[in-house]
Amino acid sequence: MAVTKTFQAEVNQVLQLITHSMYSKREIFIRELISNASDAIEKRSFLGLSDAKVLEGFDKGAIYVVPDEKAGTITFSDNGIGMDESDLDENLGTIARSGTKAFLDGIKQAKDESDKTALIGQFGVGFYSAFVVADKVTVRTRKAGQPADKAHQWVSDGVSSYEVEAISKETVGTDVVLHIKEDAKEFLQDWQLRQNITRYSDHIRVAVYVPNIVHEDDKESDKSQEPFEQVNQATALWTREKNSITDEEYGEFYKYLSNDFDGPMNWIHKQVEGNYSYTMLLYFPKRAPFDMWNRDQTKGLKLYVQRVFIMDNVEQFLPNYLRFIRGVIDSSDLPLNVSRELLQSNRVIEVIKQSATKNILNMLEKKSSDKDQYKDFWQQFGNVLKEGIGEDFQNQEKIQKLLRFSSTHDETGVQSQSLEDYVARMPSDQESIYYVVADGYQAGLYSPHMEYFKRKGIEVLVLTDRIDEWMITRLSKFGDKNLTSITQAKIDDKDDELKVDEKTQEEMKDILTRLKEYYNDRVTDVVLTNKLTHSPCCVVGENHEMTLHLRRVLKDAGQPVPDFKPTLELNPNHVMVKALAEEQSDEKFGLIADILFDQSILSEGGELSEPGRLVKNYNDWIAAELSKNAD
Ligand code: ADP
Ligand code: MG
Repeated sequence: MAVTKTFQAEVNQVLQLITHSMYSKREIFIRELISNASDAIEKRSFLGLSDAKVLEGFDKGAIYVVPDEKAGTITFSDNGIGMDESDLDENLGTIARSGTKAFLDGIKQAKDESDKTALIGQFGVGFYSAFVVADKVTVRTRKAGQPADKAHQWVSDGVSSYEVEAISKETVGTDVVLHIKEDAKEFLQDWQLRQNITRYSDHIRVAVYVPNIVHEDDKESDKSQEPFEQVNQATALWTREKNSITDEEYGEFYKYLSNDFDGPMNWIHKQVEGNYSYTMLLYFPKRAPFDMWNRDQTKGLKLYVQRVFIMDNVEQFLPNYLRFIRGVIDSSDLPLNVSRELLQSNRVIEVIKQSATKNILNMLEKKSSDKDQYKDFWQQFGNVLKEGIGEDFQNQEKIQKLLRFSSTHDETGVQSQSLEDYVARMPSDQESIYYVVADGYQAGLYSPHMEYFKRKGIEVLVLTDRIDEWMITRLSKFGDKNLTSITQAKIDDKDDELKVDEKTQEEMKDILTRLKEYYNDRVTDVVLTNKLTHSPCCVVGENHEMTLHLRRVLKDAGQPVPDFKPTLELNPNHVMVKALAEEQSDEKFGLIADILFDQSILSEGGELSEPGRLVKNYNDWIAAELSKNAD
């Protein structure tokens, strides 16, 4: 008796999108179904390590892909782990991963077809891609360890529901039968199917078979006697000699591993023999995965022990800031029954992790000599790499060299300058590398503190990413150079030009006192400065005090921030300051004083305690000016 069940709402949405928006690259269903079959076989072999029953009747993994032009079907058969009834509900009726919403959002935003196809694999909704070419899918499956009469059949037209019924099935494993749509009949053609299968299965470790094509003229030869032909090499790619592997093979294997539709940017393949023996094949993607910033995204490498697949997403092989790397580790020094817990504190893992990290950082250093190519990498992964500054002290020096910043040197706003570039350009008596943290490149340029550096032609790095404040506090030195924020630089002591002459000091004495009284405990002090060109004033904190920008970031994140009592520095040559010095009315004096204070907080990326005050003051002032003109 067949039972009809409805799909989980998310599955419906995914199906809707997949069937109504994918018109090109439809052949990816082949990749997805073969990869599911191969996963199932690896799972069965793995479980068989601890439970012999699972392997009863199992000799060797095999996948068969059989088109039937008359019936209009393509069948994918495997002798993998199989599914029981609840597996069917869970795996083919719901989407387990939390990424569904991200997937749906991603699909809506996808620029083109290839973006969409990339998403299907990444979010683990690969099975449903069958409905791109099929209007009905039948899954017949028997779970390893279950008798022949405890098998199940799942049937759906991919619209809103599926049917499940008990059947009997002679062999353990799964058959997925696609009833091909009228407009997708091309996939039934032998050559096209074969070509696609070969392309997507060459790096699969399980043998994939297709029916042998029997030609009239070689009916007599031996070859034609065999009903099936193996189309892939079915050896673990990473165990092969490096120079026997073509770039295309590396590329296809990456796509299989990562579900990335695009090829890799680069890879590292090392076969290490020594105290510890292991092979690593590590890939650098071209583009950041859609869920790189999602904390529960799957990350990490695939682990094999002596070519037996052990587990996916092993995080322990890489530091967190290299979570975008995809790949495989195959070790001979771990037990086959190694558990996730055991991986937490294992000497072998530690050794492999260190070597993987070194290799990756070295590769990036090499990459970085090609500025253009590295710019693309940096754009995608720079912000993740910055986490390494705080996370990986051992390699901090290497990571420092990989950082790229936007700078007043090139005025493009593009993050393309390294700390080494900066140091090579700076005059030998300059002690610090100067930077400013701002919400954006333009905002950085408009900081009043920038005026002095501009005037003097001193280069300033402009840090505009959210993580920069955090990173920069962990990066106080590059070689023997300090990194100093221009908002905290004590330049007045160093440059005689900035000394305010005694005459001005004397003239302004009263106004400084009057201002200090007016501001009261809003400020630590009010002083004069010559470093400003266009701005009337700016605020500075104590040497190690948090910048205003950081305070705002912390506050946004709900962190407590200590009170901020800056020193207000006034430009004695500015007309506003001069007007202030001459202002008789207390009311007008207060108005200008408040404007000066508030705007200098604002231009530093700080947050005003009473934003309304600044707006009101400006309006009052402008209104007064306008009515003066009208008189
Ligand atoms: P993913 O492979 O990323 O998990 P899919 O949509 O491709 O996502 O498959 C969903 C799930 O269905 C798989 O995780 C697996 O548990 C199950 N499944 C699919 N095909 C097979 C198969 N041939 N044999 C056993 N289980 C399968
Ligand atoms: Mg899959």
